[in-house]
Amino acid sequence: MKINLRLSSITPMLQFLRDLKSNQATYVQIAEILDHPDYDYEFRRYGSAKQPMIDYFINLNTITDAEIPALRESRPTEVLDKHPLWIAAFNDPNVYKELANKLHFIISGEMLDRVSNMVLAGIPDDADIDTIDVVCTMSIGGSFGYVYDGAFHIDILRIPEMGEKPEMYLPLLLAHETHHVVMMAYESEYVDNFTLEQWFIHFFSGEGLAIKFCNNAQGTISKPIYNHLPVNAGLDAFTMEYLNGKFNEAWVVFQKTLSSIRAGKMNKNDVWAHLMNYWYSFHTDYQQPNEAPLLQQSLAYSFGNDLYGTIYDAFGKNVLFDCVRHPEKVLDTFDKALKI
Ligand SMILES: [Zn+2]
Repeated sequence: MKINLRLSSITPMLQFLRDLKSNQATYVQIAEILDHPDYDYEFRRYGSAKQPMIDYFINLNTITDAEIPALRESRPTEVLDKHPLWIAAFNDPNVYKELANKLHFIISGEMLDRVSNMVLAGIPDDADIDTIDVVCTMSIGGSFGYVYDGAFHIDILRIPEMGEKPEMYLPLLLAHETHHVVMMAYESEYVDNFTLEQWFIHFFSGEGLAIKFCNNAQGTISKPIYNHLPVNAGLDAFTMEYLNGKFNEAWVVFQKTLSSIRAGKMNKNDVWAHLMNYWYSFHTDYQQPNEAPLLQQSLAYSFGNDLYGTIYDAFGKNVLFDCVRHPEKVLDTFDKALKI
């Protein structure tokens, strides 16, 4: 497995910001930059037109908040919220030049080998992987990182938010997201044929196994894998403790949902809504829905880690991925694992 780091849109964007400051930037210049394959990838992912963003960047230093365009209808203030980061980059592009140089240095062959090994430990032996692209841009959108179209994106504008030592967490982030890219490609061959019950059980393997293998997650039952890494590395300690504390409650909810699916009382839309409202909620029980969420992961992560990670701890990789492929085996196998 080879991880291919794409950084080549960053230098022309930094040059554009410098030119904008000295009144030498041109419309053609920014239009060409946004045609770069890495920005093209971003526009496809966000499902957005380029024109409003060309207008935004050419007016970056004078635009009023009211004039800042929306990248996608579902999140109208995404570019507005991001605007201070772009103004900071406009004021001091060298910060990002240094960061891009540092990334070249941090994301060395040796680090990518470590990332590959971590991912390889947590995917099926017959997963067919060649090269995974990591696209790094000064991003047009609000997401820090995302998986799209068989590649993984990171926003260099947000790397300083990782704190003083991005070299500590970047490998884990790369491994976690690469795990998703590989598993999504691997599962695309069979996941569409799942029954609703299989699909629901399978859902928990995604984040559950990514944190098991790439963040050394500590579950309620599932154990961390690596001695050389801290537990829950790159995850939020408060969040994981809170979520692990809800395992028993989550188990009851999981069983109830399975019963409703089996009784034909829920269709796929109902199950999806339930997954988003309960398993993907980032609010604690004592928070109001309009408050900023306190959790950085959700029950889908911690419960998935316990459900699938416990099977791995007891029976190893082959049994685990047989269960991922055949979700109807998960509950029996999990039960057997508990009795070991
Ligand atoms: Zn994830």
